[in-house]
Amino acid sequence: MRLGLPPLAIRTRLTLWYTSVLFAILVVISVLSYSALAWSLRQDLDASLLTVARVVRDTGPAGAGPDLASEALRELLGPDFYDKFVQLFDPQGNLGFRSMPRALGTLPLSPEARDNARRGLPTFETVELPDKKRVRVVTLPLIVGGRVAQLIQAGLPLERMDHTLWRYAQTLLVLVPLGLLLAAAGGFAIARVALRRVDEMTRTARRITAEDLSQRIPVRGTADELDRLAETLNGMLVRLESTMVQLRRFTADAAHELRTPLTVLKGGIEVALRAERSGDEYRSVLASSLEEVERVSRLAEDLLLLSRLTAGVEGERTRVDLEPIVLEVFDLGSRLARETGVSLRLAGAEPAAVIGQPRSLWRALMNLVDNAVKYTPAGGKVELTLTRRDGRAELSVQDTGPGIDPAQLGRIFQPFVRLDDARARVQGGAGLGLAIARSIVVAHGGVLDVESTPGAGSRFIIRLPLAPEPA
Ligand code: ADP
Repeated sequence: MRLGLPPLAIRTRLTLWYTSVLFAILVVISVLSYSALAWSLRQDLDASLLTVARVVRDTGPAGAGPDLASEALRELLGPDFYDKFVQLFDPQGNLGFRSMPRALGTLPLSPEARDNARRGLPTFETVELPDKKRVRVVTLPLIVGGRVAQLIQAGLPLERMDHTLWRYAQTLLVLVPLGLLLAAAGGFAIARVALRRVDEMTRTARRITAEDLSQRIPVRGTADELDRLAETLNGMLVRLESTMVQLRRFTADAAHELRTPLTVLKGGIEVALRAERSGDEYRSVLASSLEEVERVSRLAEDLLLLSRLTAGVEGERTRVDLEPIVLEVFDLGSRLARETGVSLRLAGAEPAAVIGQPRSLWRALMNLVDNAVKYTPAGGKVELTLTRRDGRAELSVQDTGPGIDPAQLGRIFQPFVRLDDARARVQGGAGLGLAIARSIVVAHGGVLDVESTPGAGSRFIIRLPLAPEPA
């Protein structure tokens, strides 16, 4: 759990990230550019010092008086001699000539420089004077006849170079934070603009309630991530809207179905109560009332079952052999068929097992057989088959009834849909049988299909995945 700080808005977080990354980049660039500048200034300085030392060595003012020598050097070197100085030593390291401002005192001749000189090499050193001033010095030997004849030192205070570098550092110290500030402000503004649509979408989505699911989140047509998000949300709204419509229709249909038998019941009782009746008359009213009550109670049970099924099959799922279920349905179906003068035949039952809930599976198949027997006119035939095909168990119920109009095939599985209303009502259905059967089959991972030829008959097929063979 996070404590303390409130959550940061995405645009603030983006800006912070972006600014931190930019800061790191700018620091690296500043350090690199500062080092590069320092290196190149040092290179220039060393090259220029070496030039002065070489010129002195080659044209040397040895033996000249100090002032004259400075003059001569100034003339000789022009602007190159500006703020530089020269010292000459004999091979023993004794100072001879020097053109050095007194303020700088005397520069020492390091043992390393003398060593290098013996080998004919120049030496570059940075020397710190007692007053903390730093001086860059090159020591160059004059070799005559293979021996060091003189040591020439050219030097330059590093003040100017240090000053240049310090000014550069100051510039960076001002420019880097300024750049960061501008980038952060710019980044924040861009993030704000980019995320404004998200805010708009949030507001629109908030306005959409269950009462008004017809609103949609505007799609700009830019095909970017936000458009895709809007399309996804809109797709969800379409599904939600159609679910709501179905739910409303379902509730209205359910209320309607309940009202009809209740009205009949109420009417019967009211008529019976209007005058004194004989015992037989009361009995007949009660008997017909019981019929209506049974109808309502059946409907309530079906509704309850259907609503439970949408949340999945109830009860423990086990390995279920379909054969005994088929036989049981066949048994009960045969009795119903006898009453209506239809012949029910068991055309075959291969052994097949699925994973599921036996009572639910029995109910699904029973509903199909019940329909087939119910809607097939007397003298017709109904055939029940259990087979295995393509790794699935197939339960087929085929009848020689009136068939179903192809245009209506998709509708019959919806709750409360009855194609031949008058006849269906007489035969007792509320239009929930197929909806329940399909919910059960779907909850078992299967499909319920129908094939039908109007006038010739229908075939309902339950296809269920077979249970894995026990090891
Ligand atoms: P009902 O309670 O009316 O039987 P169902 O959901 O079981 O409700 O069936 C819906 C409708 O589908 C029925 O009203 C009927 O018109 C049609 N139907 C179902 N089974 C058959 C069939 N075997 N032959 C012809 N029509 C059928």
